[in-house]
Amino acid sequence: MPTTTQQDALRSLPQVEELLRHEAVQALINVLPRELVVDMVRDSIDAVRHSILDGGEPDSSADSLAIDVLRRALLLEKPSLKRVINASGVIIHTNLGRSVLAEPAVAAVTQVARGYSTLEYDCSTMARGSRHDHYERMICTLTGAEAALAVNNNAAAVMMVLSEFAAGHEAIISRGELVEIGGSFRVPDIMALSNAKMVEVGTTNKTHLFDYENMLSEQTAMLLKVHPSNFRMTGFTESVSLKDLRRLADEVNGKREPSNKVLVYEDLGSGALTDIASDGMHEKTVREALAEGADLVSFSCDKLLGGPQAGIIVGNSYFIDRLKKSPYARVLRLDKMSIAALEATLRLYLDDAQARKFIPTVRMLTEKAEEVLPRTQAIMDALKSALDEGDVELELEKDTSRAGGGALPMCDIPTYVVRVAFKRGTAQSCERYLVSERDLPVIARISSECIRLDGRTVLDEDEIEEIAKAFKEYFDRLD
Ligand SMILES: *Cc1c(COP(=O)(O)O)cnc(C)c1O
Repeated sequence: MPTTTQQDALRSLPQVEELLRHEAVQALINVLPRELVVDMVRDSIDAVRHSILDGGEPDSSADSLAIDVLRRALLLEKPSLKRVINASGVIIHTNLGRSVLAEPAVAAVTQVARGYSTLEYDCSTMARGSRHDHYERMICTLTGAEAALAVNNNAAAVMMVLSEFAAGHEAIISRGELVEIGGSFRVPDIMALSNAKMVEVGTTNKTHLFDYENMLSEQTAMLLKVHPSNFRMTGFTESVSLKDLRRLADEVNGKREPSNKVLVYEDLGSGALTDIASDGMHEKTVREALAEGADLVSFSCDKLLGGPQAGIIVGNSYFIDRLKKSPYARVLRLDKMSIAALEATLRLYLDDAQARKFIPTVRMLTEKAEEVLPRTQAIMDALKSALDEGDVELELEKDTSRAGGGALPMCDIPTYVVRVAFKRGTAQSCERYLVSERDLPVIARISSECIRLDGRTVLDEDEIEEIAKAFKEYFDRLD
């Protein structure tokens, strides 16, 4: 219940009609659709109402509310989805749009966005073509798969595979792999959504082959393996390899009808196409998962792969054909811009050295600290020339970057950062300025009263200059 003071404050709030008669709001109605202004007026009043109920004492005068309405109107003029500079050192940052596309991918997107395209048209036969043709051949070459299908994202891919092959039947999964992956992807929920009956085996830390064997029945349609992504267990743990699951499925399938085989499916999560191992870290590649015996493998395109948002399913043509014919293939299909970006990104992988050089995600993941150093040094030099000695203390430091995106979570990627300590102002208020008050925000790491800028995820000279400019603007505003 609101207190009496709160009730009084709520009663004294201007009404919508009253605020609409305010001079400033009237001016807005002259240039914007009336409905839109009415909505903004309601939002402003609601915001003050909530603030009062939360125990705040906001200015609830008509003038103050009118200013808030004007502020909302001004924000409409600015893009909401916009570029940011990522100096955080988190390479596959889901909140910041995951992978930065390679230049050829950007060019390909622009081409098909600007004009008509061969999305579903085959110029050689002058007849209808398939949108899958643009990427399938290359994925097969790069993974050793017979066939491939790309859909909206990997979560969609998992849902599709489970619905098509395990709905109404049982899919066996280890309790150690019943994970939640950032952004509300939970394996048990996807199972429920797809109508597959989830059969959990083993324990959180240990699952043995006999656990799967014991639960196998006539109802079993699938042995499912899920990459634990950003979750790692260490110590007393054991899981069953894909190879062993393959052997188990083969044993059972020997006694089954061809239409009733147990399928081995791995949700690989990140989907490395090339071995990005360095300093002891390794992510199983898609090719390796298929070679170990998975019938189907699915993975994201905007994590380790470094492409657009999409999910790819690879495997033998019989299974992939069934998926292509499923209504989900239509519901979850990729648009032309994503296909253009995917095709161009995959083409770079045909030459491993090109992939490492031109796909930003792959480059950032594989760059040695010494290769990052010149960029970090350039950030420091730019800050030095932009700022006064009395503003900050700058230090070059060794630190660690992160892969992000649920890939290689335990892996510390050695890097160099600039540590900015504040002689004037504070790290907190500077961060607020960098992030909230600029048209081109700068995202950095902040800890123990310092801001740290990681050269690894900073893309080019322009971004370095922009970072220096942003800091200078912050100190200028302090004056
Ligand atoms: C990231 C991830 C997903 C979800 O993939 P999206 O492309 O983000 O939909 C599913 N499974 C695993 C194991 C993952 O790591």
